Amino acid sequence: MTKITPQPGIMEIALYQGGAAHVEGVANVVKLSSNENPFGPSPAAIAAVRDSAAGLHRYPSTDHSGLRRAIGEVTGLDPERIICGVGSDEIISFLCQAYAGPGDEVLYTEHGFSMYRISALAVGATPVVVPEQDRVVDVDAILAAANPNTRLVFIANPANPTGTMIGAAEVARLAAGLPEETLLVLDGAYAEYVEGFDAGAALVGTRDNVFMTRTFSKIYGLGGLRVGWGYGPQEIIDVLNRVRGPFNLSNTALAAAEAAIRDQDYVEKCRAENARWRAWLAEALAECGVASDTSCANFILARFSDAAEADACDEHLKSQGLIVRKVAGYGLPQALRITIGDEDSCRRVAAAVRAFKGAAA
Ligand SMILES: *Cc1c(COP(=O)(O)O)cnc(C)c1O
Repeated sequence: MTKITPQPGIMEIALYQGGAAHVEGVANVVKLSSNENPFGPSPAAIAAVRDSAAGLHRYPSTDHSGLRRAIGEVTGLDPERIICGVGSDEIISFLCQAYAGPGDEVLYTEHGFSMYRISALAVGATPVVVPEQDRVVDVDAILAAANPNTRLVFIANPANPTGTMIGAAEVARLAAGLPEETLLVLDGAYAEYVEGFDAGAALVGTRDNVFMTRTFSKIYGLGGLRVGWGYGPQEIIDVLNRVRGPFNLSNTALAAAEAAIRDQDYVEKCRAENARWRAWLAEALAECGVASDTSCANFILARFSDAAEADACDEHLKSQGLIVRKVAGYGLPQALRITIGDEDSCRRVAAAVRAFKGAAA
């Protein structure tokens, strides 16, 4: 038996389950399992990636000033209070490393994103799961569970995999009601899908206990490059920068993200297409008896009568080359999370679910 043992908590981490991308023996497969933008990145981001190739012998910027300035210009936020990471996953990890450890609690909700738990366990902190109310974050339940040992509270708004969100007044009530020792983290991975939504940035501006994370992996279509960012009180940004590796983002990633955020016309187009086909698909599923909550993101959480029916529908979709996401690991065994693809993918999903429900009836 080896005497070389990992830190407490590490062996409790269940490996992150990514969305599948292939089905054995099925051609013309569409991947609707990872909430990726079906249109890919902006052409400007692709050009920036190409242009970056000649400079790859140079180390990247250590302070990401170009990207932070671009984010500041587009969002109106202060670049000094922005930190960039290898996906928002890395920002979540910095927050846990800097603010939580053994004996501390990291709180998230019943159907919350799995990286909160993984990052909490990785630093030896205790993950605490709070119930939701019918797949919606429950502010009162969080306030009841929070205590002075609670270092961090993570909520995604809109949330994954439910697609639901809570209003600004509820978020503000949560921030105001938490213990003084607790930082509220608002994960805005899907914020761009909600027209005119600031993801809580204004609240960050008026309080010292609120932090916002954002990503280039969803509407910006750059999941493969791994870029995310955080916006928070200056003291917290200064703390996180001590934990961050100096060269955490490559030249290519920085250039692509900067080009992507400056192309807001492209974002607008993707948001509009998503809203249109999300409504269409939700309606088509409802017509064949598959309910879903109104989604504020780029996916629908389709609910079946039970886990067996959800699994059977998943198998049928797979046989048709449609890969969606099982979410039993998120406490939703009777549901499937379906990313909103392009028109053709949405029509294929609707037809396949209709055929499945028709065959079952
Ligand atoms: C997809 C997603 C992210 C993004 O993670 P990245 O590391 O930025 O790719 C963050 N939070 C939630 C809730 C997500 O669904």
